[in-house]
Order: sequence, then C-alpha cells, then structure tokens
Amino acid sequence: MPLPAELSIPLSQHLGKPAKPVVRMNDEVKKGQLVGEADGFISANVHASTSGKVRAIRPHPHPGGQYAMTVFITPDGKDEWAEGLNSAPVDWKGMSKEEILKKIRDAGVVGMGGAGFPTNVKLSPPPDKKIDTIILNGAECEPFLTADHRLMVESPEAVVAGLEIMASLFPGTLKLAIGIEANKPDAIDALQQYAVPKKIEVLALKTKYPQGAEKQLINAITGRNVGEGELPFDRGCIVQNIGTAVAVYDAVCRNRPLIERVVTVSGMEIARQKNISARIGTSFSDIIAFCGGMSEKTNQVISGGPMMGKAIFSLDVPVVKTTSGILFINNSALGKSRERACIRCGRCVEVCPQGLAPWLLANVAQLRQLEKIQLLGLANCTECGSCTYVCPSGRELVHWIKYAKALVSSRKQRKSA
Ligand code: SF4
Ligand code: SF4
Repeated sequence: MPLPAELSIPLSQHLGKPAKPVVRMNDEVKKGQLVGEADGFISANVHASTSGKVRAIRPHPHPGGQYAMTVFITPDGKDEWAEGLNSAPVDWKGMSKEEILKKIRDAGVVGMGGAGFPTNVKLSPPPDKKIDTIILNGAECEPFLTADHRLMVESPEAVVAGLEIMASLFPGTLKLAIGIEANKPDAIDALQQYAVPKKIEVLALKTKYPQGAEKQLINAITGRNVGEGELPFDRGCIVQNIGTAVAVYDAVCRNRPLIERVVTVSGMEIARQKNISARIGTSFSDIIAFCGGMSEKTNQVISGGPMMGKAIFSLDVPVVKTTSGILFINNSALGKSRERACIRCGRCVEVCPQGLAPWLLANVAQLRQLEKIQLLGLANCTECGSCTYVCPSGRELVHWIKYAKALVSSRKQRKSA
C-alpha cells in the first residue's frame, strides 16, 4: 500500500509492558529507527515504519479496544532507511544463538497470529523444558483471512528459512512441521519445494475450525495433549505463526525490523477485497480509502477474523503487528439476531474444543462471580468463538467470557500494585 499521509504507531502492540518512547516531538526519524524501547523481559521494541518527523506522542485509539500511547510520524516522502538496516541477505549459519536471539529482540518480532507474544521470549523456554518439535501454524482456519495463505504462496523460501533459524536455537534433531489446512493446496505445493529437501514436513490438515488454535494444532500434528494450565513447551513444542517466521528471517538475515505486515481486507461491505502489505501505523480509514470505500450498510468493522476478532470503536485505529485482517460486516445480512434467554440446548458445550460449559461461564461472568468462574476453567478458554457461533439464542457467550477475563486480570493488577 502506498505511504499514507500520517502514521500512528502504538507503543503497545504486544503482550506485556508497553515500550518506552525514545523519541521526542519534532525529532527527525529514519525508516526502521527505534521509537519505543522494550521495557522489561516481556515487552517488545517498536520502530518507525518510514522516515519523517515525530509530530506528537499521545494516547490514541487502539484496535485492541483501548487507548494506547502512540507515536505520530509525518512522512517526509523519502522513505529512507536508518543506517545498517535492510541489508542484502546474509547467511545466518555462522551466527551464535545469542546473536540470533538479540537480532529477533532488536527487530521487535512478536507473534503475528494475534497474541503478540515477544518471539525471543517464546524461543527461550525455561532450561528444564526440552523442546523436540517446532510447528509453523499455516492453518489460518478463521473464515475470510488469507494473509498467511498469500505469504506461504509468495514467500515460501523466507517461511522455511525462518523455521530453520528458529530450530537452530535448540540442541539435537527436532521434528519440524508446517501444518496447513487441506483447502490451501497451492500453499502446500509452494512450501514443499523448499521444505522437503530440509527434512521439514508439510502436513495437510483437515479443514475445520479451530484447527489453528495452538493446542488443537499440537494435538493434530504430534498427538500430544497440552493439558489444563500447561503451555506448549510443557509438551516439548513451540508453535509459531507464518508471518512471524518471515519476520524472523527478515530480522536475522536482512536486518529489517518488523515495520510492515500482510493484512487481509475483506467482508461483503468493502468495495475491493484484497491482501495488502501495510506499514505498521497505517490507519484503517486510509486502508478503506485505498480499497475503494465501505458501503453504507456496514455496521461492524472487525480487526481480525469473524470468530476471534474485535469490533473496533474508531476508524482511526492503526494496523499493528497483530492485525491479520480487517472485515467489513453487515450483521443483519449475516442473520444475527437479538440476544435471548438460554434454552439449555447444550450446543455450546458440544462444540467447545476445550471441554468447557460456555453457557455457565457466561452466566457467572454476568453475575461477576470471579472466584467461581476461575474454578470453571476460565483460563482455558481460547476465545475461539465457536460457542457464540452455534448458540440459537444469539447469546454473546465469548463476549462475556472475555469480559470476565478482563475483570480477573485488572483485579490481579490492582492486588500486585
Ligand atoms: S470461546 Fe467458547 S467454544 Fe471457544 S474455547 Fe471459549 S468457551 Fe469454548
Ligand atoms: S448454545 Fe446458547 S441456548 Fe444452547 S445451552 Fe449454550 S448458551 Fe444456552
């Protein structure tokens, strides 16, 4: 996408503490220059996505649903890289583990599938956890989203190189696999050319939602179950997103920080649906204009997919490192109805991949019984949205579950403060 007239780059685009601003108003910055420095272990660097002048640093609407401290840059039109960045590809094979991890951290690489967990931290599990499997998540199981699909078709070499770089951080022979839903045969073909000679398995998985959820993917590929309260490394696995693998390759071999990403622009209410490569900080309103405008019938703009994404509250929100897609929806055309009382049909229980009772979680969340809801397995909900999708009473089950999670987390923060 062409350079917009202004970029708004939030200092919080990841899980953990927001980055600390290291620029001031009226500073001149170059493309790829650090504007926010990681603040602590679980945090990530943030960079300027073009050259220009810092116009302001202030709170601004964020696609996560809150206001976040944001660095505004007015581009100078030169798009000039900071010194030493965007180099010709270099061979990573002579680099030490520490050097590779530092490059990933410096480049601000985070999980680009949605969670935004800092990648260098995910690649540094506790020493007592033996990693024997690394999986790339190419399932992209949410309807509408095709950003990872395009990356797999158009940049298979970088995807495979990113996986090899991550595997080099662990001792011994690892099982390396790329899991892709069988409905993307072109992506499977493209990756096989580069992956098979490197002994990386490219696996065609059954097309079903939520095949791309971390726990479901690990089970489908290794047969292992990540239990309640466990993390993938407890079962010897690390799962990374396709875009993240490309960002790792760019960081390590090309000295390129994470300043742009592929975004799917879709839904029935946008004039031209497409995948675009957008700079971090491009506003949704600029993307709407670039894609020919949205129809007057649009009553929801969603950041992410229709199952797990969030409806945004302002079109000024920018693309961040985790923005996989933007959807333009008319709810009445989708047959969405008014919320009614639960009829105890049990469908939400049947579909929950985590074996939870979503109807009960939602009831308890509405009553704000926070101790009780944690005993019911709140933390195990992956927010896949399947329960809301099947509910014949139109209950916003996952909305209430997310609400309870937010209450539990803010209560914990208050206690620790
Ligand atoms: S969103 Fe609903 S279906 Fe999905 S894991 Fe959570 S409770 Fe289960
Ligand atoms: S699917 Fe809806 S109506 Fe059926 S039990 Fe769950 S919450 Fe109740």
